Parts: sequence; C-alpha cells; structure tokens
Amino acid sequence: MILIFLGPPGVGKGTISAKMVERFGVVQISSGDLLRATIQLGYEEGIEAKMYMDRGNLVPDSIVNKMINERIAKPDCKNGFILDGYPRTVKQAIDLEGMGVNVDKVLSFVLDDSELVGRISGRRICKRCGFIYNTRTNPTKEIDVCDNCQGELFLRDDDRPEAVMQRLDVHREKTAKLIEYYGKKKMIATIDASGTSDEVFERCMQTIKEAGYCDCGVTSLTQ
Ligand code: ADP
Repeated sequence: MILIFLGPPGVGKGTISAKMVERFGVVQISSGDLLRATIQLGYEEGIEAKMYMDRGNLVPDSIVNKMINERIAKPDCKNGFILDGYPRTVKQAIDLEGMGVNVDKVLSFVLDDSELVGRISGRRICKRCGFIYNTRTNPTKEIDVCDNCQGELFLRDDDRPEAVMQRLDVHREKTAKLIEYYGKKKMIATIDASGTSDEVFERCMQTIKEAGYCDCGVTSLTQ
C-alpha cells in the first residue's frame, strides 16, 4: 500500500508516520528528512536546497524528484511506503505518477493556524536518533536532552518564526491545489489533527480500515 500524508507544517505528519513505522514496520519517506540528510552529508544539491529551506520556500523539483525517485527504487519500498511531504505541488503529483507510483490513499491532515504555530515553535528534535519532542505537549524529562538516547535536541533552522510564516503561505498557495487535485480523483481523506498524537493515529487507522485496505498487503494494520 502506498499512502501520501499531506498537510501544513507542524500538523504532525512526521510524528504519525513514525508511529506507523514503529507499529507496522512500513517505510516512511520524508522529503524533508531526505533533504536534511543531503545537507548534512555536504552534497552540492544539499547546499542549494538549504538556501530554499531556510527561507521557507520549496526546493526545486529537479532536486526533490531525483531524491524521491532514487529512494522509492530501494528494495525496502517493494511492499509499500508512506510519502510524507511529497508531493507538495500538482506538478510533483504528476511527476510521481510518471515514476510509475500508484497511490492508494491520500490523508490530508488539518489543524488551525494558531495551533500549528504553537506546535512548530515548541518542536525539538534529537540530533542523534531523530525523535521529535515538543516543549509544550511532549517535553523531555531533562531540558534539551533526549529521553531515548541522551542526544542533544535542536530547533530546525526553518522552525524559526520568519521561515514558519513563509512555509504556511507556501502550503496555502501550493498544497491547496494538490488537495483539490486528489479530491477530484476521490483519493483523499481528511484527518482532524487536533488532540494527542495517539488520538490522531487512531483516526488514521480508522480511515485506512474504512477504505478497505487492510486485506491487500497491509494485513498487519488489522492487528
Ligand atoms: P514541513 O512539512 O514541516 O514544512 P518538511 O521537513 O517536510 O517540513 O520540509 C521542510 C522543507 O523542506 C520545506 O519547507 C521545503 O523547503 C523542503 N521540502 C520538503 N519537501 C519538499 C518537496 N516535496 N518539494 C519541495 N521542497 C520540499
């Protein structure tokens, strides 16, 4: 099964994807994480991508499409995957179809802007294991130290207020059209992203079950 997670920054796509990975062993492909890894490795494409990301703008399709295409060709994607943060535009959705990917369902996560900004400003990520915390809703026991691996926590450069507003604007402008695109294809399900991550996760499970996907390659989702 191939799922797409759509939604504004801070809505919790990464957290819910991580829960799916933990519970069902599915593969999560986060375009943002792939880009951040490319930056860390010091690749030329990463240096270019960082300029766009730090300002809250979309990275050029040439970079993102190549990265996604290479990732989905890996053997661990054979049984399906969750795309988190890709596609973000109608053009990317069409490019994805061109890669031969047949998407089963698109989950569109929705939340009020004020709540989104609150979630983003509180987001802290472990440098070592990548676990996502929130100073308000899911704090660590010791300030800025990961509960799991004692790694140091950091605030993403694009989680600073200037970039956040731009990311929300870009989302409104570009991704709204994508929701319309998948809506016309009757592929979309809207998920209320308010409440705890466990509550949101349960809503996703319900939607996936209602869509009847539990018997076709994702039998573990019923367990
Ligand atoms: P968020 O969804 O919270 O904005 P991500 O980690 O998904 O966070 O993305 C961070 C940044 O990476 C985006 O603001 C954008 O600059 C870049 N990015 C991620 N995915 C894409 C994509 N599909 N197309 C273009 N740029 C992307």
